[in-house]
Amino acid sequence: MLDFLSVIFNEIRSYFVPEKITYEITGECKKCGKCCNYMYSYDTYSEKEFKIMQFLFPAYKRFYIKGKDECGNLIFACKFVTKDGLCSVYNKRLRMCRKYPAKRILYPGKLHEGCGYTVHYKKFDDYMKKK
Ligand code: SF4
Ligand code: SF4
Repeated sequence: MLDFLSVIFNEIRSYFVPEKITYEITGECKKCGKCCNYMYSYDTYSEKEFKIMQFLFPAYKRFYIKGKDECGNLIFACKFVTKDGLCSVYNKRLRMCRKYPAKRILYPGKLHEGCGYTVHYKKFDDYMKKK
């Protein structure tokens, strides 16, 4: 439960606090739809936690539980992705969809295999060079 509360805290914080780590992202979307069909909410393990998340963030009602990965994390999909992998509400998509893949996040995320984007992770030395 504590993990879940920290998820909610981080979710709210992401709207207000600029993260210090910025990743360089290159490439472009190939419109495969994988990121709308297979998504994770870090440390959300149960349907009950998912329902609380949807209650707190009503915009997430567009997502439904699709299954679980090998670690027990829930996998979600969006109701609005078409069979062709396109967004049927493109002009009204969520902020997180507009910003995907996020350049500023708390921990390194992983893109789907075959995604047209590449995240360039910075090493400690790269940060030191900027000083
Ligand atoms: S997984 Fe990558 S290439 Fe596929 S739709 Fe999402 S952003 Fe585009
Ligand atoms: S709103 Fe559109 S872009 Fe966002 S997850 Fe759903 S289908 Fe994908």
